[in-house]
Amino acid sequence: MGERPAPPRIETDWSVPLRFFGWLFVMFLFSGGLVLFTLASPKGEQFIGDHPWLIPVFVGMAFLSVAAAAAPFFFGIRCKRCGRRLRRMAGGTDLNTGNAPLKFHCVACNVIWNTGLVSGPGNPE
Ligand SMILES: [Zn+2]
Repeated sequence: MGERPAPPRIETDWSVPLRFFGWLFVMFLFSGGLVLFTLASPKGEQFIGDHPWLIPVFVGMAFLSVAAAAAPFFFGIRCKRCGRRLRRMAGGTDLNTGNAPLKFHCVACNVIWNTGLVSGPGNPE
């Protein structure tokens, strides 16, 4: 009592942006792969024509990849130290760009996890 809590240390959790771009890459693989596959050769078009269910599968996988990439923005992350589920920190919107950095505060570890990611202009806070 009477002791002021130390300000939280700010650390960067690089696994969050890495996973984010990893999932985006997967999404491009699925969506771009399907397009390339069908455009590259008549055989590919033929193959898709014979297996039309591949299209919703690819589209679904691409969509899931986007959802996985966006998950930290909506569902938060786990603290790298204690494994607690962390909700996104509010605030910190840059008024010039409208970007809000994606940060998480773990009270137990007294750490603010910076992710290097921002939510773009127009994203709901
Ligand atoms: Zn923690």
